[in-house]
Amino acid sequence: MPETVKAAVLVEPGRLEIQGFPRPEIEEGAMLVKPLMCGICGTDKHGYNGEAVQYAGTPREVNGPYPAIPGHENVGEIVEMRQTKSESLKDFYGKELKEGDRIVISPDIMCGKCYWCKHSFGYTWCDNIRSYGHLESSVPPHIFGGWGELMYVFPGSHIFKISDEVSNEIGVLAEPMAVTYPLDIAKGHSSLPHEGFSSGDTVVVYGVGPLGLCHLIKARLLGAGKVVAIDKSEYRLKFCKDYGADYTLNVDNTTAEERRQLILDITDGRGADVVIECAGVKEVLVEGIEMLRQGGTFIEVGHFVDVGEVKLNPHRHLCAKNIRLIGQMNLCYTGMMPSIQLMMANRDRFDFDGIITHKFPFTQSLKGLLKSMEPDCMKVAIIP
Ligand SMILES: [Zn+2]
Ligand SMILES: [Zn+2]
Repeated sequence: MPETVKAAVLVEPGRLEIQGFPRPEIEEGAMLVKPLMCGICGTDKHGYNGEAVQYAGTPREVNGPYPAIPGHENVGEIVEMRQTKSESLKDFYGKELKEGDRIVISPDIMCGKCYWCKHSFGYTWCDNIRSYGHLESSVPPHIFGGWGELMYVFPGSHIFKISDEVSNEIGVLAEPMAVTYPLDIAKGHSSLPHEGFSSGDTVVVYGVGPLGLCHLIKARLLGAGKVVAIDKSEYRLKFCKDYGADYTLNVDNTTAEERRQLILDITDGRGADVVIECAGVKEVLVEGIEMLRQGGTFIEVGHFVDVGEVKLNPHRHLCAKNIRLIGQMNLCYTGMMPSIQLMMANRDRFDFDGIITHKFPFTQSLKGLLKSMEPDCMKVAIIP
């Protein structure tokens, strides 16, 4: 391995370049990992466009930071590791780790000590959260993202060892699939009278890029009845047809009222049971609530960055129909391995590998990032 590690660096909004970093010494409990595949996420696109405020209004609010090596949806191979004095390095489930192992790395490092770490196990609500792909690359040991030759993995990271049968593609999809946990939450709510998400329910997914597609597949796997995909991209809507959507609606050819009418028509006039916002378009909050049934569930997962405000009528949109609103930021790390197992168990039914439609070497990260913003792709990934 060379002494200089090359990686793509988002220096500032609109400027992504290849830089060299010294190969770091590793501390006890840490490892160096060669990224084998790293997904490009919506937050990476936002970061490039300068929309980089996350966790707004909370103690962990962050803007960017810049410069940073992007890449948090990582599958990699351990190339070097340093055991602690007292015990060998293990993955999340206690499996021994060794050099050469393939692993999936959860994007976030939790402190384990704050109030939220103690009270919200599995969630990423830590007051001191650090996230790969969103750490300043000017600070040693610098290489905190997957768009490069090597990545530094901190002690205490959540690591999942994967077997040879798990493809890199499925490993990369573990992260967006773990973001779908509000659907599991809604399942739990269904024990209440006609609330949450029950078998046979009509589910509408707004915005069917990779995250929306993962929600669509998850809704299918959890027993949805009719599934409706809404997007601007014909390519993505066609993709969804192949992955279980019963109806597709293009927002460019339909009005909000026509979309609402279709949902009423297919639900005997009641409205959708569950609407999931994955588009990151703030107006969808209102449009989606308008098409919910009485007691319906609205899941908001599309706004991982702050893109501004929208006008709501508290009576009409929240109280009048007794809606349930589940807002969510980030993923549930305890859901990553179950997501891999869910995909592995259903790979005859869904071509998960096919969801990664484009791959670019990290030296062409900019090309990959720009591709991911075009309508004719699904998941774009960075490879060595
Ligand atoms: Zn992501
Ligand atoms: Zn914490």
